[in-house]
Amino acid sequence: MNYKPKTVGFQAGERNVFLHVLTACNLSCSHCYINQRQHGTNMLTRDQLEKWVRLFSRKDITRSNIIFLGGEPTMHPDLVHGIRVARDCGYHVTVDTNGYLFHDFLERVSTDMLDYLSFSLDGPDRAVNDGIRGEGVFEICTTNIRKATELGFNVSLIYTVSSRNIDHLSRMVPLLIDLGVKRFFIQVIGIRGKSASAVQQSAGKSTLQVDPEHWLSIVPEVAAKAAECGIKTIYPKVYLENNEVFECAGNVAENFFVFPNGRVYLCPLCEDYPIHSYEIKDDQLVEVDGLTEKQLFKLDIAEGCVMNKLLQPDTIAYLPDGSPRHRISCCLLKQHVG
Ligand code: SF4
Ligand code: SF4
Repeated sequence: MNYKPKTVGFQAGERNVFLHVLTACNLSCSHCYINQRQHGTNMLTRDQLEKWVRLFSRKDITRSNIIFLGGEPTMHPDLVHGIRVARDCGYHVTVDTNGYLFHDFLERVSTDMLDYLSFSLDGPDRAVNDGIRGEGVFEICTTNIRKATELGFNVSLIYTVSSRNIDHLSRMVPLLIDLGVKRFFIQVIGIRGKSASAVQQSAGKSTLQVDPEHWLSIVPEVAAKAAECGIKTIYPKVYLENNEVFECAGNVAENFFVFPNGRVYLCPLCEDYPIHSYEIKDDQLVEVDGLTEKQLFKLDIAEGCVMNKLLQPDTIAYLPDGSPRHRISCCLLKQHVG
């Protein structure tokens, strides 16, 4: 078996709907990307939840994925209803949770209703995880992961890499095996929400981001190790090789990031700004006039991703001739191992 990473390009005929059913959460993680000033504090009603799931449904394409998220989506009392509707529409369904699983979630869903139940954990032990996600979170999250795997759910785990936890990433592999996790998502911290405020407060410099050498010296090796142990591992491409083509998902893929105040973005990096492409008005999808993220996607720059250049210019290193040392890939382009 080959554990070399494979870049999975954007698939024609595939649609991903990231549905934030509410923005409220019981936790207060230090890197939370939810921005209530932009996306409000309301929760979808049961009726909206059903209509919005149907609104993005397309049966004429190869694959539609829906990811229910928040805030903490299991705080929504009608989440299970939304999952049933999504199944009825033919979606592949994932729920992203912080692990608290409110409203007796595990007792109210069955394994055939979910493709994946995805937990967020940012460290291999209490000290690392709880320093980022809050006191007591490691214990509750790992206890509920065990419960879910014992009940037969496909469990996946998301680890958001920052300078605070990158050096602990390798210790996740034995924990994942012990917990029975089947899929491991290694994410890179985005400069959105609270992380963006932290950057502003520290004179434009991010203290949470990791530099290219640090990322490349750790992440691919840990991903290969996890894959060798039978865990499908996915991580963002981040840096393009010279021979690789840059593509912006906003131009070539179908990803919708939907918020409960009706904003719909095509790019997650744009979520801190009112430049969304669409709005849901009276339960219909309406294109927004004026300057939106779509105009930015068309800009062709040497650095690759336009939003990365605008939001995180200090992550790009330049050669003496002024050209970028690495082009930055679309944040939605992933490497798969195993
Ligand atoms: S669990 Fe998710 S939504 Fe809740 S505070 Fe943490 S990052 Fe934010
Ligand atoms: S992350 Fe960059 S490349 Fe990807 S959709 Fe957004 S602007 Fe386009």
